[in-house]
Amino acid sequence: MANKIMSINAGSSSLKFQLFEMPEEELLVKGLFERIGLEDQMVFSYSMKEEKVKTTVEGKTHEAAINFLLRFLLERKILTSLDELSAVGHRVAHGGEEFKASSLVDQNALIKIKDLGKLAPLHNPVNVVGIEALKKELPNCPQVAVFDTSFHQTMAPKNYIYPLPYRFYEENNVRRYGFHGTSHQFVATEAASYLGKPLESLKIISCHLGNGASICGIKEGKSVITSMGFTPLAGLMMGTRCGDIDPSIIPFLQNEKNLSASEMDQLMNGESGFKGVTGFSSDTRDIISEAEKGNEKAKLALDMFAGRVKQTIGAYTAELDGMDVLIFTAGIGENSSVIREMICENLTFFGVQIDQELNQQNNKKISSAASSVEVLVVETNEELMIVRDTFQLI
Ligand code: ADP
Repeated sequence: MANKIMSINAGSSSLKFQLFEMPEEELLVKGLFERIGLEDQMVFSYSMKEEKVKTTVEGKTHEAAINFLLRFLLERKILTSLDELSAVGHRVAHGGEEFKASSLVDQNALIKIKDLGKLAPLHNPVNVVGIEALKKELPNCPQVAVFDTSFHQTMAPKNYIYPLPYRFYEENNVRRYGFHGTSHQFVATEAASYLGKPLESLKIISCHLGNGASICGIKEGKSVITSMGFTPLAGLMMGTRCGDIDPSIIPFLQNEKNLSASEMDQLMNGESGFKGVTGFSSDTRDIISEAEKGNEKAKLALDMFAGRVKQTIGAYTAELDGMDVLIFTAGIGENSSVIREMICENLTFFGVQIDQELNQQNNKKISSAASSVEVLVVETNEELMIVRDTFQLI
């Protein structure tokens, strides 16, 4: 029987959706509401086969967006009745230690997801808004939560406990959780299937390099270590996030500059990374083009980013005791041959050699014949992963 399953990704002022026919994995329509709550109207864009439309619609809440979306699906005859929707899968940022896998959202799960808002105050509450808005419209439609954190729940304590007094883990849940789990899991699965090998047989290092960036070491199909931590601020340098810095810098700058904790948090999340170092952009396209014109800060920022990625690949190769596959994904990983080349330079000791031409063409496989590591560029698709998990659960 055909199943139509939708993914929903609710952000603070946005809501993304994709509707698939399963198990064929045929994308029927995808779209995005933006500027929710900022004005009386929101911006709605969608694409369906060749058709691409951007328009404004009345309403200023996530509920209004979902209400509009359901009517749109009926009016455009993408669904003949709302009963045709077999289930909806929601991206949820934080599953804490409670959710080691995707889960059907019953009343109990919803309470836990709300409680976890303590650990992800900017994300979980708005994910809940999406779930509740849909529940109101379609009370009988099964809803599934797919967590950014759950893939990393296989990490061993030595890789998730911080060297702080242990009581902060016990009392305040302070530990490494890791994020981008849906993406790392998706690209690892795709890579194994491309190579025609069982996922469990491969030591994989997955580099999700987008505006947010993280690396994951995967062994026997499980996440062993990942670079994001208690929050997505940790690890690599990112578009506007600083990643790992000496923690003492935080109280030092707070004292020197008279900054509150939340001002410091905003500085590290929103004013740092590529934006902070270059002073002009968080977008690597701008930075590469300025670096080519000789801008020293742009060159420095690119060297810093590539260096950190390289160091992390080295560390994770040690952690996994080898590397069979190196994956690049997300905006930078999928599109920037320049940055991939900078990262892979001088990684020959680890068996990584890329073919310049294949790399420049954004080929799926970019390693040369001499490379003992398969270096792959894999397009991530978190929405499809959400829909796959949802389909499996129902
Ligand atoms: P997000 O974390 O917001 O989902 P994406 O994975 O979409 O981010 O990545 C967005 C980033 O990818 C952009 O900020 C830009 O820096 C980078 N990017 C996209 N295309 C290119 C390109 N051709 N060259 C270099 N960087 C690119």
